[in-house]
Parts: sequence; C-alpha cells; structure tokens
Amino acid sequence: MVDVREGKDQRKLINDLSSLLQDGASLGIQVEGLPLVEVELKKASCREKARTVYAARKSLDFIEQLLSEAVVLHIDEEKLFAEITEILSTARCWEKRASSILASETQLYDLKDLVRMSVNMDAVLPSLEGIENTISSAETWLQKSEPFLSVASSTASSPCSLLELHVLKDLVSQSKSLSVQLQEPMILETLLLNCERWQCDNHQLLQETEDLLDGAKIDDGMDITILSKIMDLITRVDSARKSGLSLGLNFDELPKLQTASLKLGWCCKTILLSSTSLSSELLEDVGKPSLQNIQQHLKEGQTLKINPEEYYLGKRLVELQDTGLEWAKRARKVVTDSGALALEDVYELISEGENLPVHAEEELQALRARSMLHCVCRKPYNSRSMVSCSQCGEWYHTYCVKLHWKPKAYVCSACCPVTPQIDAPRSMEPETPSLNHRRTRKVATDAEIKDLRWQNRKRVKRTAKRSPQVHILPWFFT
Ligand SMILES: [Zn+2]
Ligand SMILES: [Zn+2]
Repeated sequence: MVDVREGKDQRKLINDLSSLLQDGASLGIQVEGLPLVEVELKKASCREKARTVYAARKSLDFIEQLLSEAVVLHIDEEKLFAEITEILSTARCWEKRASSILASETQLYDLKDLVRMSVNMDAVLPSLEGIENTISSAETWLQKSEPFLSVASSTASSPCSLLELHVLKDLVSQSKSLSVQLQEPMILETLLLNCERWQCDNHQLLQETEDLLDGAKIDDGMDITILSKIMDLITRVDSARKSGLSLGLNFDELPKLQTASLKLGWCCKTILLSSTSLSSELLEDVGKPSLQNIQQHLKEGQTLKINPEEYYLGKRLVELQDTGLEWAKRARKVVTDSGALALEDVYELISEGENLPVHAEEELQALRARSMLHCVCRKPYNSRSMVSCSQCGEWYHTYCVKLHWKPKAYVCSACCPVTPQIDAPRSMEPETPSLNHRRTRKVATDAEIKDLRWQNRKRVKRTAKRSPQVHILPWFFT
C-alpha cells in the first residue's frame, strides 16, 4: 500500500523544498516562484503526515483534520488519501454500529463481534475500550456465578460443596451494573428469592420448635396430644431441611433444623419411655422401659446438650435410671459372690428386680442363673470345670465328684449309685495339681447325693436341662 522508498523520497522532497524556501526568503527580494514552493512543501508535509496513519493507529479526529487539509491542498483525490478516507468511513461505520448496540438491549455476542471486527481497523476506536471492559466484567461475573447457576439448574438434592448465601447476594447486586443483557442474572435472582423465602419459613419453624420444647418441659405425660404435635413438627422440620439442602447453599439454619429435629425426637422418646413406666393408660402393652434404653436415651440427650432435669418427664427418667442402676449394682455383686448370699435372699433380690419400674433383663437373667445351685457342693455355676449327668441333667464340678478328666458321658451317683462312672479309663495320667488341690475338700456322701436330686427339683424350676444358662454368664466373669 505504502512503500518505504516512497517515504524516503517524500522526506527528501520536504528537505529540498524547505531549504529552497529558506534560500528564497534570504534573498530579501520578491521571488515569483516562492508561493508555489510553499504550497508544494505543504502538500509534501500533508502526505508525510498521512503516512503516519499507517505506522500507528491514529484517532478519528486526527484523520479528519488530515483529510480536510488534503481537501484544501486539492490532493484528497490521491490514492493515499482515498485509502485514508476509506479507513475513516469504516471506523465511523463501526462506531455507529457500536453506539446503536450499546443503546439498545446489548447482547454479549454482539459486543464480541464488534471486538472481532475492530482487529482490522487502522484507527483508534473511541468505544472499543469501554466495550472490552463490558465484556470482561460480564465474563468475570458469569465465571463467578457458574456454581450457583449449576445449582439452580440441577435437580440433585445434595451438591458436593455448599455455596455461601452472601456470595449469591453480591452476585445479584453486581449483575445490576452489567451493561449486557444476560439470562443468568434472572436465574440467580430467582434462586436468591427462593432462599430468602425458605429462610423466612424456617424462622417460623424454629420458633415453633422452641415453643413446643418449652411446652414439653412441663408435660407430665398425661396429655397424649403433645406426641402428635411433636411428630407433626418433626415431619415439617425434616422436610424443610431437605428442601434447604436441595437449594444447594450453606445456610446457618440447616444445622439448627437438624438439632431441632433431634431435640424434638428426644422429647418424643422421653414421653414414650416414661409413659410406659408411669401408667399403662396411655400406651397399652408396651411394657416397662429397659434400663439400657433409658441410659442410651439420656446419653443421646447429653450429646444434644439437653439437661433432662429441665423436663418433668426427663427428671422421671433420671430417677428410673438411678433406681435401676442401684439395683443392678447389687445384683452384679451377688452374681459373682460364688454362692455367698443365701438362696432366699437371692430370690428376694430377683423379686425386687422384677418389680422395678425399669427392666434390667441382663442382671435378672444372671441372678436367675445364680439362684440355680448345682453339684453336691450346692454352689452356683462358676468357671470351674463341670460335667452334666446324661440322665438327670444336673451339673457337677469334676473336682467335687472326683473326676480328674471330663468324660464323654457321665451318670451321677444319684441316678446310678452303683456305677457312677462310664467310659472311665482304668488308669489315667497324673495331672499337675492346682493350687487349691492341697485344700481338704468336703466330698459328699452317697446319702447326700441322693438327697441333692430332690432338693434341686423342689427349689429350682429348671427350664433348660443341659446348660445352666452358661451363655449369659461369661460377661460377669470377665
Ligand atoms: Zn461342686
Ligand atoms: Zn444324674
């Protein structure tokens, strides 16, 4: 378009004309050709100025000024100026389009088109910088909004990372200053609206929970309607929490709702547990609460930072627990006393345990086993080696019936006084005597053994013939 050689020629021409003009002026006389040289110099300078348009982008004002100079000098028809006129007209055209796009509902793709077109323009476009900034802020906004947009469009109930509400609020307010038309701000506005509505509903729900929990504190379990109220509120709280999670934002209310639901559940269970021990009018056939259940329940209350003493029925549960634990402590002591406590007292303890307002099944079972006396020594089961009579089912300590090994089958003296041992080997290997071995042990006479059979039948009702409820005992012996 513009070649370098031509440029050098132009500069040489300007130099020559300038010195010619100086020379003419120094003559001190009127020279006829001098104005002509002056005009030629102006033309050459104008052309030289025109060439700078190609070297670096110039402002539209500069180009306009240049072209009007060319018109005055009658050189505007020259190819160089015709090309520059074309540059100006394209640039003006671009500017016109830009201002019309910016004036109406500006779309991001229109702005991007303008920027793409501007790459081929040889002039500084006044609106370009603003447009580039608009695009950049819109894109930054879209990028930041991305996670919220995907949360708003997705149907997933629990997104992996929870987003912050204040960020959403910021994005919605920033979207007001975006100078482009986007669908996305509307989506975020709807999301924010839903969030705020959800928060408002929850505020009410949490207040309701507080009121109901206060009511539960003075509840004495006589009015069953409180249960249905609590159940209904739990359902509503849980459903609110679920819809909050589906919004995908990190709400302060979410953990509050979870705690509310757990506390209401705790109250519900407190009523159920204590009602069964208070009276059977409310809930028939439920039976006494177990000590284990009450302990577990009070522990759950602790993790929820609930003080059971603040609740009428909670206090009742603590009392039940204390009563149960006190009895269970005594029961455990007796279970491991190796028969020290008289059988009558054991029976009394069992009856006391059966009449407690709480159910301590494990201890009761262990005490019942403890009330079964075995062998010729009339002692409860202990960890010593025992053998069962294959006929009467009675259990004997091997050391009490003088067995130094455990036979495959054994018939006791009471059942078969003549042949007390079956399968007994003629000779047996000597065993290392235990520490207790040296103690003189009272060995039952045959008459005592006969007597024992009847004693056992009268005193203890045996349900299991083979095992003296050994399966529940190891817990007490460990
Ligand atoms: Zn014994
Ligand atoms: Zn027997």
